[in-house]
Amino acid sequence: MRELSVYYCPKCGYYGYYQLPKNAVCPKCNVDMVHLSMSYQEFMNLTCEERDDLLSRQIIASSSPYIQRLMAPHKANNSRELVAVMSTRIADLEAENKKLNETVEWMHQTIWDLIHKNKKLQQNFTEPSEKQD
Ligand SMILES: [Zn+2]
Repeated sequence: MRELSVYYCPKCGYYGYYQLPKNAVCPKCNVDMVHLSMSYQEFMNLTCEERDDLLSRQIIASSSPYIQRLMAPHKANNSRELVAVMSTRIADLEAENKKLNETVEWMHQTIWDLIHKNKKLQQNFTEPSEKQD
C-alpha cells in the first residue's frame, strides 16, 4: 500500500492526506493542492499550531517576492487560513493592477497617436496659407 502524503491548498490553506497526487484537489477551491515535502508521520506529530505555522510559511514562500514582503510582518500572528486568503487576495489585486497599467499604457499610446495626427492635420491646413504670406 502506498503511503499517505500531506497536501495543502495554496488558495485557502485547507490540508489533507492523499495517496495519489491526482486525488489532492481542494474541495473548497477545486484547485490542485501542493505536496508538502514532509512525511505524513512527521506532520502528524506536529501540534495544530505547528502545522498552521509550517503551512503559513510554505504558502508565503511560494508566493511572489512582493507578497512575501507584504506578508512578512503578519507571519507570526496570523492563522494559516488568513495567510492563504490574504496571499490569494493580494495576488488577485496584483493581476488586476497589471491589467489596469496595461490599459493606461494603451490609452496613453492612443492619445499620443491622436495628438500626432492632429498636429499633422493642422500643419497641412496652415502650410499653404503660410506660403502665401
Ligand atoms: Zn482551497
